[in-house]
Amino acid sequence: MTDPAINVSHVSKQFGETQVLRDISMQVEAGKVSCLIGPSGSGKSTLLRCMAFLEQATSGSIHIEGEPLGFTDGPQRRRQSPAELRRVRSRIGMVFQQFNLWPHMTALGNVAIALRKVRGMSRSDAEDRAMAQLDKVGLKERAHHYPAQLSGGQQQRVAIARALALDPTIMLFDEPTSALDPELTGEVLNVMRQLASEGMTMVVVTHEIGFAASVGNRIAFLDGGRLLFHDTPQAVFAAPREPRLEQFLDTYL
Ligand code: ADP
Ligand code: MG
Repeated sequence: MTDPAINVSHVSKQFGETQVLRDISMQVEAGKVSCLIGPSGSGKSTLLRCMAFLEQATSGSIHIEGEPLGFTDGPQRRRQSPAELRRVRSRIGMVFQQFNLWPHMTALGNVAIALRKVRGMSRSDAEDRAMAQLDKVGLKERAHHYPAQLSGGQQQRVAIARALALDPTIMLFDEPTSALDPELTGEVLNVMRQLASEGMTMVVVTHEIGFAASVGNRIAFLDGGRLLFHDTPQAVFAAPREPRLEQFLDTYL
């Protein structure tokens, strides 16, 4: 049996006195898409950030493709060296609600700089690869535009291209369309749908229930830091309904 792409095991997270994640265990199989839904403040971003080791779980463990993330396995559990951590994290790409593009660099420059800094590629190799990635998200014609000259949807697609350029095997998305005007969400969701159909392993925090139901292989529902379920869309959206999920869906459908 192959290891799951992501294996979250009994993860809890506290910020000071506040318990934000409570004993979360979930697996995401390679090539599958899990959509993470739940009310504001339920811990979705924190869980996603733990999967990328941008936050450190207070207890529990996370494995990426069978390899521990952050800490070594076994009785001599210790923090991974920066090189070990970098190697495991390099499999993970992340896209945030805010696009975080450099305003003084073109779309091409924003993607290429990541390759030059992280991968140490030459300018021309980085730009070739960046152009190929921009083409993949439908932005080849916009490669020489600056962020201010691009719509929010186009900026988010540049951010996706930047993450993809680093060749991750897992993509984490934290509300990628929440900062966009409604008419611009479709183009971003389409890029994500395409990526899913190509077999990318993805975890997507989203309030787009239609996307979650159609693209998600699994829906994870978080409420008050607890994972109430992580199941197929059919199982989650069909009866019998959990009252807290029903309340949530009433708000977002
Ligand atoms: P969601 O993404 O579902 O809206 P978050 O994971 O952002 O939820 O936050 C869950 C809870 O953790 C919230 O109560 C939030 O205030 C708290 N929280 C998140 N990040 C921090 C932090 N860095 N320090 C303290 N509390 C935090
Ligand atoms: Mg959040």
